[in-house]
Amino acid sequence: MPRTPRHRVPRRLKATLLASAASAACVCLLAASAPPAPLGVGDRLFPYLGNPGYDVSAYDLSFAYSGDNAKPLQAVTTIDARTTRTLESVNLDFTHGTVESVEVDGAPAAFAFAGEDLVITPRTPLPEHRRTRITVRHTSNPVPEKGRDGGWVQTADGLAMANQADVAHLVFPCNDHPSDKAMFTIHVTAPEGYTAVANGLPARTARTREATTWTYRTQHPMATELAQVSIGRSTVLHRPGPHGLPVRDVVPAKDRAALEPWLAKTPDQIAWLEDKIGRYPFETYGVLMASAKTGFELETQTLSLFEKDLFTDAAYPKWYVESVMVHELSHQWFGDSVSPRTWSDVWLNEGHATWYEALYAEEKANRPMEARMKAAYGASDGWRAAGGPPARPKAPKAGEKISIFRPNIYDGAALALYALRQEIGKPAFERLERAWVADHRDGTATTADFESLATRIAGRDLSAFFQAWLYGEKTPPMPGHPDWKQAPPQKSVKSKK
Ligand SMILES: [Zn+2]
Repeated sequence: MPRTPRHRVPRRLKATLLASAASAACVCLLAASAPPAPLGVGDRLFPYLGNPGYDVSAYDLSFAYSGDNAKPLQAVTTIDARTTRTLESVNLDFTHGTVESVEVDGAPAAFAFAGEDLVITPRTPLPEHRRTRITVRHTSNPVPEKGRDGGWVQTADGLAMANQADVAHLVFPCNDHPSDKAMFTIHVTAPEGYTAVANGLPARTARTREATTWTYRTQHPMATELAQVSIGRSTVLHRPGPHGLPVRDVVPAKDRAALEPWLAKTPDQIAWLEDKIGRYPFETYGVLMASAKTGFELETQTLSLFEKDLFTDAAYPKWYVESVMVHELSHQWFGDSVSPRTWSDVWLNEGHATWYEALYAEEKANRPMEARMKAAYGASDGWRAAGGPPARPKAPKAGEKISIFRPNIYDGAALALYALRQEIGKPAFERLERAWVADHRDGTATTADFESLATRIAGRDLSAFFQAWLYGEKTPPMPGHPDWKQAPPQKSVKSKK
C-alpha cells in the first residue's frame, strides 16, 4: 500500500527533560554520557528504523481521546523488553509527540530526542539478558506533519491507524521494525457516543458517566506497523466465521445496512483461503470500514482497514472489490503472521496477497490468472526499472507518496510466483505455500528462507531461477510461455491495495 516516504533529518539534540523533582539527577547523567544519536537495525530501505540491543516482548498502550480528532491524545506506552547486550542508553523510535516523563524499571530516567529516536538514559546501565520495563508518558498527535502522512488517519467521525511501513513511531514510542514482533494490550478511553476497537480480542470495558475505556489484547505477536486503533461513531458487528472463528467488523453506525452485503462475504473468503493455505492464523478477523480518504487499504492485524468509499463508489466493479478484500485477508497469513525480516522482503507480503487476489478473481469471477500474468509480464521490465527487482526494491524518494509500494512488489512479484509455479509445477507450488505459512507462523522470515523452502520442496537447485526472477534487472523468459514479450504497460482499474 502506498505511503508517504519518510525523510529523516536528525534534529539537533533537544534536551527535553522531565519537569519532576527527579530531573536534576537526570541532567547530570545525560551530560556524562555520549550525545544521543539515532540508531537502526540496518534495514537497507529504512536505515533508522528499529534499534539494536533489546527485544520487545510486550507493549501496553493507553490512549485518551478527547472527542476532537485534531487534538493530541494523552498516552502512556509501557514496553517490556529483554536486553540482548549491556545498554547505557536505550533508543526507541518516536517523533511527532511530546514526552512528559520516562521511567525505566520504576525509576525516572533521562531522555532526549535524536532524529526520530527517543534516547533514554537509565540511572545505571542495563545489564545484558535482563528484563526491563520502560514507561513513557507522552502525547500522540493525530494531525499529520506537512508532507508526511500516518500513522493516525483522521476519519469523518474519529481516528484510525495506518502505520505501514515506517510510521508507527509517529503514534507511540516503539522498536518500529517488523523484525521485532511483540504482544500488544491496547486501552482506549473515549467520551460517550464513541466506540473504540483495536487488534485482537476485547478484554474488558470500564464505563464512567462521561467516558468508556476499552481494552483489547492480541493473542499472537504483532509488528508495530500492523497496530490498529479505531475510534469513531461506530457499530461493531459480530458473525461466526469458519470453525467458530469470531468475525467482527467495525463500520460507521449510519452505514451499517448499506455495508452489510459486503461484510457478509468475509466468512466465505476466509474458508476459501483456508482451503488453499491452511487454518486462519489469528484469534479473530474483520474489516474496519473508515470514512477517510486514504487512497489505500491496509492489512492491520485481525482488523484490516478499508476506505468506506471502496464499497459505496459504483466505479469499482464488484469482482474487484471482492478481490481487494481477499488481498487484505491473505495478508493475515502473508505479512502479518509471517512478517518480513527486512523491508526488502516486502515482496513476500505483496506478491502473495496479489497472487490470492488474482486467484480469487480467476475462480470466482472468471478472470483468468494467465491473462493477468501475461499483461504483468509485458510491463515487468518497466516496473523493475522504476522500482527495482522484486526482492531488491529501490528506497523511497523524498516527496514520493507511494514509498516502497510500487508495482514491482505487487503484480511484479506475483509474476515471479507464477513463474515459480510454472517451473516447479502446481502440486509442489501449493505444498510450498502451505508449508511457508505453517513453518513461519507468528515469526519473521526472509527471501532466503523462501528460496530454501522452495528448493527443499521442489527437490532441486533453484538458485539460478530465484537470482534471475527476484534480483534481475530484466525479466527472465517465462517458463512454459516462450512467446511472452515485454510490451507497453496496459491500463488497469484504479489500484487500491
Ligand atoms: Zn497488500
